[in-house]
Amino acid sequence: LTPQSFFPCPNCAETIGSDARECKYCHAQIDPAAAAAALQLQRQINEACNDASTLRNLAGFMWVTVVIQFIYATIGQVLFFGSMIAVPLIIIRWQTRYGRLVTDDVDFKAARQKRNIALALWLPTPLVLIAILVVMGRS
Ligand SMILES: [Zn+2]
Repeated sequence: LTPQSFFPCPNCAETIGSDARECKYCHAQIDPAAAAAALQLQRQINEACNDASTLRNLAGFMWVTVVIQFIYATIGQVLFFGSMIAVPLIIIRWQTRYGRLVTDDVDFKAARQKRNIALALWLPTPLVLIAILVVMGRS
């Protein structure tokens, strides 16, 4: 069993293997169809968490590129523009893929928070863009 093959028991929420016919913790019978559905949901949650971490890291990196611009102007600008375009596209993709998932999973809640942090980091970027254009116009 890979880590992707575990899911929470529908009865007691302990983590069990997808091939289990009975929960080893609460001994509830596991319906194979329900297990498959729960496993599918768990996979989507895992993907949502990974994608949200990448998204938040990229949004953080975007602000590093603002600092890089003071040292290496051109490289910094290219990286800034690239991440400024990529962050909202990834937010939209995340929302399309995982926005409608219904779950109490704490990791998924954390993933939603990371998406919100990425959005909050992205919102002020038009101001940075204006500042860059003003500086470019002067030189
Ligand atoms: Zn159980």
